[in-house]
Amino acid sequence: MSALLSPLRADEGAPENAEKEITAALAKLSDADRKLADAQRWCVVEDDNRLGSMGAPLKIMVDGKPVFLCCAGCKKKAAANSAADTGQVGKN
Ligand SMILES: [Zn+2]
Repeated sequence: MSALLSPLRADEGAPENAEKEITAALAKLSDADRKLADAQRWCVVEDDNRLGSMGAPLKIMVDGKPVFLCCAGCKKKAAANSAADTGQVGKN
């Protein structure tokens, strides 16, 4: 049975490992923050980057609401964005 599975497992392993890393990164947050980051799921600046895929997500406040970013680089981009731009965050 393993002979059939092994060629596929090599490819499928990467996403599984990524999930584990993401789970581990999110575990560094407080319970409340982890739930928010889990619900948000994606970085608001790099919206194809999963929160936690680059370490513990960074929390920033936008219009009084906590918003999570995947990395410090995105924090700079978020700060550079206009308020109108970050207003889209609420739709996510
Ligand atoms: Zn980022």
